[in-house]
Amino acid sequence: MTIAAPRAERPRLLLVGAGHVHLQLLRHRRRLADAEVTLVDPGGFWHAGTAAGLLSGRHAAHEGRLDPARLARRHGVTPIRGRLASLDPEAKRARLEDGRTLPFSLLSLNLGSASRCPPPSSPGPRVWTIKPVARLLALRHRLERELARGHAPRVLVVGGGASGVEIACQLRQLARRCGGRAEILLVTREERLLEGAPAGAVRWLMRHLARQEISVLVGVEVTGHAPGGVTFTAADHGWGEDSLQWLAADHAVHATGLAPPEGLERLGLPVIPGRGLAVEETLQSPGFPDVFAAGDCAALVSRVLPKLILHGRHQAAVLADNLGARLAGAPLTAYVPRRVATTLLDLGDQGLAIRGQRWWAGRLALAWKRRLDRGLLDQD
Ligand SMILES: Cc1cc2nc3c(=O)[nH]c(=O)nc-3n(C[C@H](O)[C@H](O)[C@H](O)COP(=O)(O)OP(=O)(O)OC[C@H]3O[C@@H](n4cnc5c(N)ncnc54)[C@H](O)[C@@H]3O)c2cc1C
Repeated sequence: MTIAAPRAERPRLLLVGAGHVHLQLLRHRRRLADAEVTLVDPGGFWHAGTAAGLLSGRHAAHEGRLDPARLARRHGVTPIRGRLASLDPEAKRARLEDGRTLPFSLLSLNLGSASRCPPPSSPGPRVWTIKPVARLLALRHRLERELARGHAPRVLVVGGGASGVEIACQLRQLARRCGGRAEILLVTREERLLEGAPAGAVRWLMRHLARQEISVLVGVEVTGHAPGGVTFTAADHGWGEDSLQWLAADHAVHATGLAPPEGLERLGLPVIPGRGLAVEETLQSPGFPDVFAAGDCAALVSRVLPKLILHGRHQAAVLADNLGARLAGAPLTAYVPRRVATTLLDLGDQGLAIRGQRWWAGRLALAWKRRLDRGLLDQD
């Protein structure tokens, strides 16, 4: 009689956070065939690429979402609804907010990012951040109600980067779609919009914004909220708080860049302040070779990358290879970011594409951007 040897326990791979990186990683599940894979997802996945359409009303709410649990099951991954509360990286245990403890052999973190803004004031304008993306949907519903009542809301968008510009344009689309009027003002602390973009693209953008009746103020640093508006200092006034000025607004939308999510520093892993969880080029946490991080929550030790879906998606393939290699005891590969990324802006009825010092504007750029965004959601 032959007695089968007891089956060795399969290594446990724990994926925490169902962001763009882990959802893409599911496609590479076959490379991790030897592992038992679990995905922890609090249920908040919104596709940031569709944020513009959600705000303008071009997309229905469900069009910016997909169900990570369904996707996980399809790829033989066990989904768990929950949120990571703390971690013991030495003992290899993750604890969820509901108290459950999950042991792991390998851990990968894809926790996204957050947007920050000064605290609201009461009375004061309604304050909105651009992340989580669901906030933009709430803003849309609120403005739809105000426009339907015949109000002409004054909306101030803070931040002259790609998100701020897109949001200002989508707000104009929303007001038009509702047949109402809105005063839209875009402000930036920089001396121009889209820092680093070619001068020709910025000139084109300024003309486009003027046609859309979107006012722009540069060199304006918003410092806080106040009754009826926001306070700011102007770049040409060097007198600190003595020179605070005031701008009227019913709504202040803050699009001033993405920051690491709250609580990262409590995970017991090395953190780069203001940037996120430190990772080597292999996406491993320094000193914790069985802990990986990718996407917006991760900060490469060797260089600073903008927080973009694109980088996260490229990391997904390297992450899958390296998790597989770690399980097999094979050497790991380095993630090498692309030197130049293309920025694509959805400006409502026009698109703007920028790659290094080259740029294109028009409907073709818009069609390209929307096609890419649709492709990202097609994995559902
Ligand atoms: C308005 C807007 C428009 C944008 N447009 C573009 C664009 O057009 N192109 C582009 O490249 N980038 C764009 N970005 C940037 C883009 O949002 C991010 O780069 C991208 O979402 C990062 O993906 P990620 O995989 O790191 O995390 P995300 O996709 O943000 O997902 C993180 C996930 O982690 C989960 N999570 C968080 N904390 C926990 C926890 N404690 N436990 C468990 N799970 C947790 C969250 O619920 C979420 O599902 C935009 C951003 C905004 C705000």
